Amino acid sequence: MLRNGLYIISTPIGNLGDISARALDILREIEVVACEDTRVSKKLFSLLGLDLHKKFISYEDHSEEQKAQSLIDIIESGQAVALISDAGSPLISDPGYKLVRKCREQNIYVTAIPGACAVITALQISGLPTNRFMFAGFIPNKDKARQDLFGELKNVDTTLVFYETAPRLLKTLATAEKIFTGREAVVARELTKMYEESVCGSWKDLQNHFMETEPKGEFVLMVAPPVQKEVALDDVRKILSQRLNETSLKTAVKEICAQYGLNKNEVYALALELKK
Ligand code: SAM
Repeated sequence: MLRNGLYIISTPIGNLGDISARALDILREIEVVACEDTRVSKKLFSLLGLDLHKKFISYEDHSEEQKAQSLIDIIESGQAVALISDAGSPLISDPGYKLVRKCREQNIYVTAIPGACAVITALQISGLPTNRFMFAGFIPNKDKARQDLFGELKNVDTTLVFYETAPRLLKTLATAEKIFTGREAVVARELTKMYEESVCGSWKDLQNHFMETEPKGEFVLMVAPPVQKEVALDDVRKILSQRLNETSLKTAVKEICAQYGLNKNEVYALALELKK
């Protein structure tokens, strides 16, 4: 018998075979399912051969506070509640964060049954560095917001991962080319599905590919980390001391880090040393 609590259960992102044995066991046993769209979840249950005689409750983070509390009340009455998304891992660009936070505040048992997630699946096949990455969620639809987000992330020294939709892909690639100039990129599409594809190359390669083949399905965009420009320590010293005569320490450090992709703390320490 399941302990009362919240069970965060990952479901497939396309290929039904990716549901885990543990997820199936729990979904078979559980009586209450919190989900985004009850119709989508019921369809998933029938495709997986699961009994539909359960209580399906729709839950979104922006739905009233009361919804989260009523799920917690169900748990406190002794029941186990599953949280599932339309596809993939709950809470990853999907609802659940506020519910989990509320559960934590009220000392409710929370556990996760891991499984498919588009960010991780895309990274695994990308050929880009995976030792450090930053997942930045969905790319905003408005031009200015998209540019601002890319500008903000331009100097982050990790692989960047975004979710994107088919109709916006070409616009996004054009903006990305201007801001992440010269960086390698990968677009992964329809992961785990029949038309799975991953295309890598320059921004121009990607734009040409998706101008020839109309973008269809679900997309993950990944951008390689900024290229580290090789620069000798002596050269950094020279450039830094020159800039320190012309501008503030903060500005000089910021500029040189951005220009040569150097570590901010290290350049800052060097600047302090030079100032002395
Ligand atoms: N929680 C999900 C997960 O674990 O990946 C993501 C949900 S989010 C609302 C949906 C977005 O995830 C899609 O617009 C797409 O960017 C990405 N995505 C989901 N499934 C995908 C797939 N099979 N292939 C490529 N991207 C996918």
